[in-house]
Amino acid sequence: MPTTAPRRRGRAPVLVLVVGLGPTLVACGGAGAPGGAGGPGGAEAPGSSSSPAATASPEPGTSPGVSPSYEVGGAARAAVDTMLARRAQAVRERDEAAFLATVDDRDPRLVAQQRTLYANLAQLRLARYDYETTADQLLPDPVRRAGPREPVVRFQTIERTQVADALTGAVGNVVRMTYVRRAGQWLVGRETAPEPVAGVPGQLRPWFGGPVDVADRGTLVVLTDAADAGLADDLADIVEDAVTADAALLQVEPDRQVLVDATGNGPAVRLNTVDEEEAAAIYTGVFDLDAQGHRTTSSGGTIRINPDLTAAELTGDPGLLRHEVVHLLLRRYTGALPMWLSEGTAEYARWYPLTTSDLRVAPELWRRVQAAPRQLPGAGVFQLDPAVNYLVSQAAAQHLLARGGPVALRSLLEGYRTGAAAGTGPEDGDLTDRLLDDVYDTTEAEVVDGAWDALGRLDR
Ligand SMILES: [Zn+2]
Repeated sequence: MPTTAPRRRGRAPVLVLVVGLGPTLVACGGAGAPGGAGGPGGAEAPGSSSSPAATASPEPGTSPGVSPSYEVGGAARAAVDTMLARRAQAVRERDEAAFLATVDDRDPRLVAQQRTLYANLAQLRLARYDYETTADQLLPDPVRRAGPREPVVRFQTIERTQVADALTGAVGNVVRMTYVRRAGQWLVGRETAPEPVAGVPGQLRPWFGGPVDVADRGTLVVLTDAADAGLADDLADIVEDAVTADAALLQVEPDRQVLVDATGNGPAVRLNTVDEEEAAAIYTGVFDLDAQGHRTTSSGGTIRINPDLTAAELTGDPGLLRHEVVHLLLRRYTGALPMWLSEGTAEYARWYPLTTSDLRVAPELWRRVQAAPRQLPGAGVFQLDPAVNYLVSQAAAQHLLARGGPVALRSLLEGYRTGAAAGTGPEDGDLTDRLLDDVYDTTEAEVVDGAWDALGRLDR
């Protein structure tokens, strides 16, 4: 929304690159709780729309060479599991030949896809890589060039990948692989991307898709499309600088443990807004999955960048990553903070040392800011007009930081965390009233007044 996003007064050209694009929102999803809304991204739950299909023919009428599935039982699954164990071992031991030996080599497209998958994984230091299947049989995908009497089967399959140091545990992904028995041996006969499930952000799987580049800085690992030569290192530099700057600004410990996915692979980064705008970037937690595809334990955090942003747009706006890095640095408070506070702090850092009085807004946005309800925008209303609510939140955070600096801000954050631990949610107005009184000797009404004072100084 080029007409509504704030622009830097005077020195606009750099920013125009970013705010002039479709994906203008800097989003931050916060980590979804384990077992929380929705299942894994792209998960196809057993028994859901693709019904168990132990003996069904795969998609009648599709390509020739697709064979009907035979009745396959426990023996087949045990054999598939053995093959998958060899395949995972091949990834861990970087044995391409052993990996490709698990792939049906009659299908050149499959082989090319799997070579890329292997090459991508081989660039990562992996603390863990393995698969788990369940007995649930799903509708197999067509296996190209399979013989008429070769059985095919698709078991529910989970892939677990832990990028060493960057992730604290394995990230689980439901993968969609159809297995084919050829000359007595079970092989991967087809792999496709799982369908996205509406409204549920997908888990992280940047290694599946096109070729990637990796910048490995220990706990900080950045993946980009290989076509964006040099971008992975540039982004790693930008993230490292952002961590240093944000940690100094907020007086918190630097934290560089994050996996940055700037590839075009995997499920799209999407923020649900009324106008369906996509997020420019998002910080989110990732999780392991159990065999049924339900989230279990946290595996760390990732910054995912909208692949529609070009390399020049990404490197031309370091503020984008300064915003996301605030969420990284404050991750111990994830889920405990009201949205205006986490987003406001992130926006404050994004623009620092500029303040709201240095930002230029279009008349249309100015009008909406003036018409907005005089309140701190809670999670329930934030996405109704994110452009306004990011600004209001930034102004509120700016007001609090002017009043008490990073020390008081930390007390406020800790207060919310203590409240959350005691069962009081971040959007509880009584908690906010109490904390603002305890920490700042102020009221929400005063913070709102301070925010709108600052918003009144927006350039328009
Ligand atoms: Zn954010």
